[in-house]
Amino acid sequence: SAHLIDVERVVVEYPVRSGPLRTRRVRAVDGVDLHLGRGEILGLVGESGCGKSTLARTVVGLREPSSGRIVVDGVPAPVRRPPQLRRRIQMVYQDPGASLDPRRTVMQTLREPLRRHRIVPPEQTERRALELLELVGLGRRQLHVLPRELSGGQRQRVAIARALAVEPAVLVADEAVAALDASVAGAVLNLLHELRDRLDLAVLFISHDLAAVRGLCDRVAVMYLGAIVEEGPTAATFARPGHPYTRALLDAVPRMHDRRDAAVVVRGEPPSPLEVPAGCRFHPRCPRAMALCGTAVPPAIDMDGAVAACHLAWNIDRSFDIVERVSE
Ligand code: SF4
Ligand code: MG
Repeated sequence: SAHLIDVERVVVEYPVRSGPLRTRRVRAVDGVDLHLGRGEILGLVGESGCGKSTLARTVVGLREPSSGRIVVDGVPAPVRRPPQLRRRIQMVYQDPGASLDPRRTVMQTLREPLRRHRIVPPEQTERRALELLELVGLGRRQLHVLPRELSGGQRQRVAIARALAVEPAVLVADEAVAALDASVAGAVLNLLHELRDRLDLAVLFISHDLAAVRGLCDRVAVMYLGAIVEEGPTAATFARPGHPYTRALLDAVPRMHDRRDAAVVVRGEPPSPLEVPAGCRFHPRCPRAMALCGTAVPPAIDMDGAVAACHLAWNIDRSFDIVERVSE
């Protein structure tokens, strides 16, 4: 495989209590295929609870797939990964306040992975830590401070520097800018873009923020109830979505110059992985659902490079108004 990471038919199930003495298995990720190339930025979008974070944790090796596999550089990656493989894929979380040790200075935080993975000889640790800080737009002034002395944006930059310390090929960013103010978030998005260009870093960018994904990602995958329902180049996919759920997510993004007195909503109950519908998993909420949709799982339909799992993929934009408008 020419890809850096292949996610192949990955299923992740976990037990939940369904009564005093009963548990059942919930399928959080339901047969996902995804591919990430060197230096590529792939967005993974969907509502919270759709399985994005579970998939992310599986990709970095924090969770074992129930079936299917994660392939890194063409080689299946076991869950207990040897250190040199673990280094390849690093994670950045939403809340840098929680992921940074409040008692450690930035230097101590960066020193730990540099030493553990023997990235540089001990006498070069400080120089390398400084280089890492400069790489993320910080500098010597931040080297010996504690996380509480930094702003939220600076803390997230330190978390990114720590991830970069082990020279990964891939950064998995799970809602990495969601907790930041818009302008600070924008600056961190610019940083990720810059790091891709400078380091040929690949990024799996997990977000519910479609505007951020539009600006940053080369390709986008849309996840609904554990499955990828659409995937393609970001610009083309957002301009001409083949799946009604993608359309609905886009219509739910507030637009400037478009003051509406109505909200666009997807009708029906928010989905639960405890009850994945038969046929198309989106059919109970899909305004375009036909009888076929309740029984037949839609095939992945190729739309000139984008792929949509919808029986109507090619025909969706012929009848544009596919979501309901309700008064607020
Ligand atoms: Fe809607 Fe049917 Fe397409 Fe599913 S397959 S998204 S129910 S039209
Ligand atoms: Mg999440």
